[in-house]
Amino acid sequence: MRTPILAANWKMYKTLGEAEAFAGELLAGLGDVSGREVVLCAPYTALDRLRGALAGSPVALAAQDVFYEEQGAYTGAISPLMLTDVGCAYTIIGHSERRQYFGDTDEIVNRKVHAALKHGLKVILAIGESKPQRDAGQAGAVVVAQVRAALAGVSGAQMAELVLAYEPIWAIGTGDTATPADAQQMHATIRATLAELYGQATADAVRIQYGGSVKPDNVDELMAQADIDGALVGGASLKPESFLRIVHFQA
Ligand code: PEP
Repeated sequence: MRTPILAANWKMYKTLGEAEAFAGELLAGLGDVSGREVVLCAPYTALDRLRGALAGSPVALAAQDVFYEEQGAYTGAISPLMLTDVGCAYTIIGHSERRQYFGDTDEIVNRKVHAALKHGLKVILAIGESKPQRDAGQAGAVVVAQVRAALAGVSGAQMAELVLAYEPIWAIGTGDTATPADAQQMHATIRATLAELYGQATADAVRIQYGGSVKPDNVDELMAQADIDGALVGGASLKPESFLRIVHFQA
């Protein structure tokens, strides 16, 4: 039985005041979330303030990226050590916007995964194909290659600390969601890859989120799919009422 995991990815949005106000409204409306995991992936600047605002709540704090070194002369970078120090339980790694705008290759993603796990930081590993790749019939091969590259050298035991997020690039921020059936098919492909790498029992235990224009009006259908275990939500996570509806999905 996999615990559904609903994560907000705020991207480069929210000042300190806005982040704090959101946390207050989120906690006020959260109610009973037993049996679900709720995660807030915030900008670095808001993490310390959110740690205080979320203290004692069931909402886990997360970053949106991390560098692979522990410390050193890496101007502008944030290390796994710094993220656990500020109270992060998770970080996203491999988001397509990091790959597109910041040059994160599969090799860099793999180094980041190892660095995070080494420091006790759990990972939401994002993978997904572009529109031209999908149109060329390469979606499955591209995603499987990303999974294999990102997980190179990661042990079966470490997989307990890792969540995958299938995010087709053409569905991110576009309002263009994968159909539940298409998403399910890719999730099953990813799980089959995990089974090849780690065996069926480990593959069955790993949670795979879907991301790409998840909204209050499509989350129920997506979450009803057998291999969709959660959602990574960008735009629809910026308003508390919208994210709360997603957290309280009905499958
Ligand atoms: C994301 O940022 O990971 C994402 C899926 O964005 P959106 O929900 O806006 O498509």
